[in-house]
Amino acid sequence: RNTPDLETLDKRYFFHPFTALADHERNGPHVVVKGEGVWLEDNHGARFIDGMAGLWCVNVGYGREEIADVLQHQALTLPYFHSFSSWATDTPILLAERLIEMAPVPMSKVFFGQSGSDANDTQVKLVWYYNNARGKPGKKKIIARNRGYHGVTIVSGSLTGMPSLHSGFDLPLSFVRHTTAPYRLWEAEPGLSDEDFVARLAGDLENLILAEGPETVGAVIMEPVMGAGGVIVPPEGYYPAIRAVLDRHDVLLIADEVITGFGRLGTMFGTTAMAMQPDLVTLAKGITSAYVPLSACMVSEKVWRAIVDGQGALGAFGHGYTYSAHPLAAAAALANLDIIENDGLVEQAGARGAFMHARLQAAFADHPLVGEIRGTGLVGAVEFVARKSPATRFEPALKIAGRVVKAALAQGVITRALPHADTISFSPPFVISEDEITQMVEGARKAADAVMDDLVR
Ligand code: PLP
Repeated sequence: RNTPDLETLDKRYFFHPFTALADHERNGPHVVVKGEGVWLEDNHGARFIDGMAGLWCVNVGYGREEIADVLQHQALTLPYFHSFSSWATDTPILLAERLIEMAPVPMSKVFFGQSGSDANDTQVKLVWYYNNARGKPGKKKIIARNRGYHGVTIVSGSLTGMPSLHSGFDLPLSFVRHTTAPYRLWEAEPGLSDEDFVARLAGDLENLILAEGPETVGAVIMEPVMGAGGVIVPPEGYYPAIRAVLDRHDVLLIADEVITGFGRLGTMFGTTAMAMQPDLVTLAKGITSAYVPLSACMVSEKVWRAIVDGQGALGAFGHGYTYSAHPLAAAAALANLDIIENDGLVEQAGARGAFMHARLQAAFADHPLVGEIRGTGLVGAVEFVARKSPATRFEPALKIAGRVVKAALAQGVITRALPHADTISFSPPFVISEDEITQMVEGARKAADAVMDDLVR
């Protein structure tokens, strides 16, 4: 067979996620065929710096033989067996132990799935089962935040606080509510202190819980640092204030660590960096550096004990996927954690992150299109505004971030548009060098200049 024309085959057969389909039928795909370190190569031989580690996930970089070797060994030894009822395989047990030992706050058990979306669905079922088990079946509502991203299944997509991901699907489901994000640029007037901003945000959440009735609210779900919603870092004192509200109303806190888990913020977990005290933790992406799909829900002893003690009347916890605790995925996760620990990649992400933020400041602080530069650890973002003061948004139809991303690609740099915030984001593999960071940021800066030239023309 000749080299297949991938563009033609793609247009003919492949239904792309998150894609304007009519545009895609015209324009076709961009096909990646190879990765090494932080570099990707397409099917025409062009090379790009992957400034997003795929979708915030290939943290140890592409082409790690350590993971490939373990996958080959595991596939030959035992590619699959399930974990329903009393069955188990070895690698998920070892991974569960390791996760509980490294957990950012004391945790008791781990439930495995395959994606961040299904893990957050599992979290909702855990919250419901927990409240049923302790005789509080009314506590069904789940509160998330505007701009939060928690996935795209019917439940996790409802938690996601982005109207554009609800439209067309009749979401969100009726038990979901959304509260204010800690998004200083648009939610706080200039000069508002962190303390006052935190008090306002905690007040918004408490007022929502009171308005709904605390006896109807089961949990709140939050990303330690919001990713897809715009790389939004909460102010100091935010999570302790949120936790105090939740404790007053017997509401659980789910930390969605799908992006922040396993080093992205320069600490092993984002909950530590952000002083968050969750009852449940969602993990995915960086757990295997995306070499194999895997997600995990970590469950605290409080939740676990109530579930076990109250199970009598409810029957077995009737939830689990064919691929829950997949032995191949767990083996990949163990190898990935070995790399992160042996190579000191958490500290490295912190150090390279500090370098990246210095470069972003140098490149963008006085750029006419830039309203804010955000981030912490090895995750950063640049938000574009039509006017700096008072901050004024561009017309969404101008798609500034999208145009910068496209122009950056022409510079050999992959970044990502977060259209809900007119923001471009940077979340490279932890193995990125300082030179590669400089190249990535310079490429993005040239791209922003090109878009500006276009605007004034
Ligand atoms: N939660 C967060 C914070 C995410 O960033 C994502 C994906 O980007 C998800 C959940 C959903 O994960 P998945 O795409 O694996 O379903």
